[in-house]
Amino acid sequence: ADPYDRYRDRTPASAELSERAKRVLPGGDTRSVTYHGPYPSFFTEASGATVTTADGETLLDFLNNYTQSVLGHAPEAPVEAACDRLQHGNDVAAPNEDIVELAERLVDRISSVEQVRFGNSGTEGTMNAIRGAMAWTERDRILKVEGGYHGTHDTVEVAVGDESAHEGIPDSVKKRVDAVPFNDTEALKNRFECAGEEYACFILEPIMGVGGMIPAEESYLETARDLTAAADSLLLFDEVMSFRLAPGGAQERYGVEPDLTALGKLIGGGLPIGAFGGREDVMSQFHPETGGLKHSGTFNGNPATMAAGAALLDQYDADRIEALNERGDRFRERLQGIGDVSDRPVRITGDGSLFQIHVTDEPVTDYESSTAGEPPLEDLFIRMRNDGILLAPRGMGNLSTAIEDEHTDTFLDAFEEAIDRIPE
Ligand code: PLP
Repeated sequence: ADPYDRYRDRTPASAELSERAKRVLPGGDTRSVTYHGPYPSFFTEASGATVTTADGETLLDFLNNYTQSVLGHAPEAPVEAACDRLQHGNDVAAPNEDIVELAERLVDRISSVEQVRFGNSGTEGTMNAIRGAMAWTERDRILKVEGGYHGTHDTVEVAVGDESAHEGIPDSVKKRVDAVPFNDTEALKNRFECAGEEYACFILEPIMGVGGMIPAEESYLETARDLTAAADSLLLFDEVMSFRLAPGGAQERYGVEPDLTALGKLIGGGLPIGAFGGREDVMSQFHPETGGLKHSGTFNGNPATMAAGAALLDQYDADRIEALNERGDRFRERLQGIGDVSDRPVRITGDGSLFQIHVTDEPVTDYESSTAGEPPLEDLFIRMRNDGILLAPRGMGNLSTAIEDEHTDTFLDAFEEAIDRIPE
């Protein structure tokens, strides 16, 4: 049976809600990534490893809000901390202790981060970090990685997706952003030889998430560290997604320290957040009296978010991170094992609790190899979805600490069924 017909049969309430939503929201949703054909399922509740839909289905969540819900849904301590704050007054134009608590936890955990500032999305995190780098270096050119996703502001949307995705980005911005292929040390050296001293920063993820869930080779990160330092350019790690990999983020796991770090997702304990931090000399530019840079936002340092984030970090400690990474490593091995005996050329990428399914003959090392020649994986996604598993439509997923062995077994059975059926 056609998996889309099966999907429609199971989701009449979502179909109706989607029709209603389309009248007031373009496409009926408000995030590009959660939109998929024929229409997304609307959820009503989420708890632990599961999501309940408007159609009364229970789905196992292997997407976890694009890696954010690392403890699963509605984790007790962060939820209690946020509710407690809301009940005692949350929206005051003054700092409170919660902001210090979360900042201290981040500075304690990430050795390259001496000071930090908060906003409300990872987008704001990378945007302000880049602004800080431009002001510090008095340069306005930026180097990034092809396919590297850092949120939705003009500078970082260059070299993500195809040309059609770039409508609306001014040419003046495109001209001051260059991109290099991920994991290509020679290309990086050449770029720095040509223009290294013009770049305010090189921004990259230690593991490229949206671009294919591809870990950087250690020597690549070391080269990036050396080249930026030699050119007086700043190295900016986007750890919005990768922070979950170690108490101090992927920079700790891979052993390379950047000058600046952008953060988001899990550090808000389930509420909207973004942050940027790093060397004190660079961050001090944001000092309202002595620095030259303004950074405001009505909800920056929102106390409920800060309290939830601190509570989450207290739960997501070194032992739990290590255990989750080990489970993730085993899970990816088992996925690859199924892929190896399937009719399709499956390659599983990722690290620790992060994974992506690729269907390609070629090694996946950068954005081009993660997109060229691969069939679109929506068919796999919809088949897995019909079997009660939530995954990203492009085959990306991750484990939360709420996912148990029985859940991963269910995923692997569904994957074994689905992978041979997807169209060439
Ligand atoms: N950077 C990376 C690596 C991301 O994965 C994301 C979001 O997926 C962002 C930045 C943007 O974060 P936000 O969606 O909170 O704006």
